[in-house]
Amino acid sequence: MRDLTLEQKRAVVEVEGTVCLKAGAGTGKTSVLVNRYLNIFSNLLEKGVSPEEAIESILAVTFTNKAAGEMRERLEGELENMSLPREVLARRAYISTIDSFCTRLLRENALEVGLEPNFRVINEIEAKILFCKVGKALLEEGKLPRVTIDQWLDDFLSRIYEYVQELRNEAISPSEFLRQIPKAKGEEKRNLAHLIAKIYASYEEELKRRHYFDFSGILLETLHLLKKNAKIREKYQKQFRYVLVDEYQDTTPLQDKLLRQFSHNYFVVGDIKQSIYAFRGAKPENIEDFGKESELSLSLTKNFRSFNQILKVVNKALDKEIPGYEPISSEEEGEGCAVEIFLGEYQEEEAEFIAQRILQLLRGYRLKNPMRKEDWGRSLELKDISILLRGIKTPVGIYEEALRRHGIPFVTTGGTGYYERPEIRDLVALLSTINNPFDDISLIRLLRSPIFRIKNSSLSSLATVFAEREIEDKEKMVRKRYPLYDALGKLDGLDIGEEDKKAIRNCRALLEKFFVEKSKYSLGELVYKVISQSNYFHYAQSLPPTERRRTLANITKFFNLIQEFEERNIFSTLEDFIAYVNEVTQQGVVESEAKPGEENAVRLMSIHQAKGLEFPIVFLANVKDKAFPFKGGTLPFYAYDEDSIISTKEEMRGRRRGIDMEEKRLLYVSLTRPREKLIISGTKSTQEKVSPFMSYFLDEKWKVKEKFSSLIEDRREKFLQDRKVWEKGIYPAAQREKEIDSLPLEEIRRAVFSSYKSISSHEISPPSFTVTQLATFDQCPLRYKYLYLFNLPPDPGLEREKEEEMIEESTFGTVIHKTLEEYILSRKEREEWRESELTSKFRSLAKAHGITDREIRNIYEREAKSILLRFLDNSENQIGNIVRVEQPFHLFIEDCEIRGIIDRIDRTSGNGYHIIDYKTNRQKNEQPYVLPMQLYKWGAEKILGYNPVEKLSLYWLRHNELVTIEIGKDMERDLEKKIKTIIKKIREEDFEAVVMAKRCESCDYKSVCEILAKSPSPHRGEG
Ligand code: SF4
Repeated sequence: MRDLTLEQKRAVVEVEGTVCLKAGAGTGKTSVLVNRYLNIFSNLLEKGVSPEEAIESILAVTFTNKAAGEMRERLEGELENMSLPREVLARRAYISTIDSFCTRLLRENALEVGLEPNFRVINEIEAKILFCKVGKALLEEGKLPRVTIDQWLDDFLSRIYEYVQELRNEAISPSEFLRQIPKAKGEEKRNLAHLIAKIYASYEEELKRRHYFDFSGILLETLHLLKKNAKIREKYQKQFRYVLVDEYQDTTPLQDKLLRQFSHNYFVVGDIKQSIYAFRGAKPENIEDFGKESELSLSLTKNFRSFNQILKVVNKALDKEIPGYEPISSEEEGEGCAVEIFLGEYQEEEAEFIAQRILQLLRGYRLKNPMRKEDWGRSLELKDISILLRGIKTPVGIYEEALRRHGIPFVTTGGTGYYERPEIRDLVALLSTINNPFDDISLIRLLRSPIFRIKNSSLSSLATVFAEREIEDKEKMVRKRYPLYDALGKLDGLDIGEEDKKAIRNCRALLEKFFVEKSKYSLGELVYKVISQSNYFHYAQSLPPTERRRTLANITKFFNLIQEFEERNIFSTLEDFIAYVNEVTQQGVVESEAKPGEENAVRLMSIHQAKGLEFPIVFLANVKDKAFPFKGGTLPFYAYDEDSIISTKEEMRGRRRGIDMEEKRLLYVSLTRPREKLIISGTKSTQEKVSPFMSYFLDEKWKVKEKFSSLIEDRREKFLQDRKVWEKGIYPAAQREKEIDSLPLEEIRRAVFSSYKSISSHEISPPSFTVTQLATFDQCPLRYKYLYLFNLPPDPGLEREKEEEMIEESTFGTVIHKTLEEYILSRKEREEWRESELTSKFRSLAKAHGITDREIRNIYEREAKSILLRFLDNSENQIGNIVRVEQPFHLFIEDCEIRGIIDRIDRTSGNGYHIIDYKTNRQKNEQPYVLPMQLYKWGAEKILGYNPVEKLSLYWLRHNELVTIEIGKDMERDLEKKIKTIIKKIREEDFEAVVMAKRCESCDYKSVCEILAKSPSPHRGEG
């Protein structure tokens, strides 16, 4: 408690009764929560309660898993100082989100209340897909009342889902909702209400049947359990003598009800100004209500994050805008100008300003906030800067483009940027068309994608002919829909160039192949096959270096997402996966782009994503009319007129006011993220009004457009020129005045700025290689590229074949290695080998590596036993001779670090050393291991001091045979030369393949290898 202020101390020591703490941004509420927890804990110990019981008496609820993790971490440190074992906290403490807490509570009581103990908790997207499936099934069976809908069925059902989740967040069951139906006016609305109640009830039944809970379901079930079962309720009321809840302003009515079931000693922390989750059902008034009912209400207003200059701007802007606003202030005023405002005419101009201002700051800015002693005086780095946007989905590309053309590494960490990436959209279009060839929109995207590159003019020829056929049929009074897919097989007589015709035929052939084959594969295998056979990998490899890395990293991430999707095992079909991706894209679920090694990068994120974070420099961008405050699309579907199904007009008007207020709270959250500098930027074109939020700041002295106008002056003319050029559809960078109907705007922009410098991840990442990486390059540089540069996953089809043989070879090898290492380390010199100990070591290590008991029995009898017993019998393995096992080393060649681990070093009779490398391969082949063995010798002699190494051996464990690798006279000189050549080639990105039939046959990348493929682009070039 030594560093706490008086207002914080009070919040820590007043532990009895109901206390509500209103904590402004950056006022140290986490410290208060941790210290209060510790204070309660110490008090309980003093009263003679055991540490275990004391820990279990405190329930701490956080808003996110990350916050729970941070709280645990801080407590672990503090409790260790009190000599309390870490495991007590890890196992017993109730510190989690409310969802996790309820899941734990239900599992603890599952059998008693008749629940399946292995119930699953499904995420929001899975819940929505399931809900829509239930709705469609009812519709197909004709079991729903008739209603008129003016939107796509999927959109209609997903809006009903959102409405049902609102009901669930208010703890309104289907039957209670049915009781409210008489309030709905008119038959149409009553039918709609009955339809909602019917799908809602069926959805609940489906969840129950599958033993699933959605997030609201977990809470509802817990509330139900506590209300209906007095014994269980009393047990927890007795146990949780203290309840601490963080971020109370973001609780829903259901969470509020649930959290009030436990104790008399509540401590809730929150800040109504930071409530930004109304769209998820949060009710900011919950904290106000709690404050009114509390025995003690406290406030934290002293800020420990930002310069006071920034806080004055925040207070001035929002003091009169947010009811009950409590100003915050800091003792550090800050040097220079901590707040800057820029108002441009075009978004490109604003983005250019941001990029140039970042470069300017990076050149000389030093961190100077005394409240962050650990950073004080150091140079500004890229990771210290963030660009916040109200919504990241639409405008982010313009800011990314500006950063890219100035070579500023960045990571987009929020929104659906990932799913909007062209490569992901192309792949989803390809999969969607395989799933449903009559999905015209996906088929058009696929035909225009880099796989087939069909011109727009050819596409419109296809569409026009079929539109004419449709008209003809209409005249015959026959209404028939002609999907575009039908057109792909009827190209004769169409005004389409031969090259495009070939590509269209190839597209059709590829689709037909997978219509037939798709049922043969798992989802992961299917996607891998589709991507490799469509040559998308090859297209990605042909991109310029920075873009290529980014594209391939995103494709790799796509595989990881599929794997996660399959592992969750809620859905498994291609159709479900497409629905999943569509849902993620529409919902704007946070999915960051893959990061190709650029950790020290500017962060681009949404304000929601930035909640709880802080940065030295924050740009709040795109503050323009209708974008921030955001207008449109936020009212729920039943508000399409003022007279909703179950709400009164006044309630609906209240909702609208609530939405406006939430935008102001979002502004507060964004303005309170910076520590040292806040730069607000936006635009106002001649046709637009200035954003109401921007007008809060414009009259102030911080307006800096004039100050920075020279920064953008040079670019301004170019923007205007570029604009005209883009409008005409001309590709100016190459000075080619040609039609570019197949190039999307994004590509034109990329081309326009292609001459600008960009930084590759190789330039900014430290040069460091493992021995295995160098050996991989030595064998086949192209394989190195796939594995380490692109991080491509191996073909899941090949993986499965291997796994079917037995448990993965690499896992088996690791377990054998570890067994020998640990066993040798546990023996003393001259002690006897003991077979039983070696066997039990193997079993426990295999188990630790996730191998099941049945598999362990199997592989032990079949392989491991004989390997280990023969190892003990081999006279080469004398414990007295072994000097080191699993010995790591680092050596430097030029500026590159090379890291390796030597399996074993023995002493020889001649006072020299013998390096032994274990191998569990079935086939003996020394050649790939020559380079690693030579590097081990170098590392052992030069770095570890085991000199001279007289002998290098590969120990083929399956054959119980040691094979010696020759040590040549000039080995060291040749090796150094070789390593330097490899490093040079890696840096120059020279990855020429070395094809060898036997090696290629067992290569994980044979299905995507551009050298093995007959032609780099068969779909474009062959008929
Ligand atoms: S298949 Fe052969 S050439 Fe291609 S990456 Fe693998 S080893 Fe290299």
